[in-house]
Amino acid sequence: MVEELTPQCSAKGCRAAAGWALRWNNPKLHEPAYRKTWLACDQHRETLGDFLSVRGFLREVTEFSATA
Ligand SMILES: [Zn+2]
Repeated sequence: MVEELTPQCSAKGCRAAAGWALRWNNPKLHEPAYRKTWLACDQHRETLGDFLSVRGFLREVTEFSATA
C-alpha cells in the first residue's frame, strides 16, 4: 500500500490537505530574512493567520499546491 504524501494542514488535529502556506518570522528567534512556513487548509488559513498576525509574526500568505 502506497501512502499518499499529501502535505497536510499544520493546525493541531487537522488532517486536511494544505492549500495555503503561511510564511512567518519571530524577530526574537529568527534572522530577519528567515521564514518559517506553516501549511494550512482553507478552514485554518484564518485561524493560523490570526494567531501569527496578533503576535506580529505573519509576513505573507501564499497559495500552496501539492501538485508541484
Ligand atoms: Zn486545517
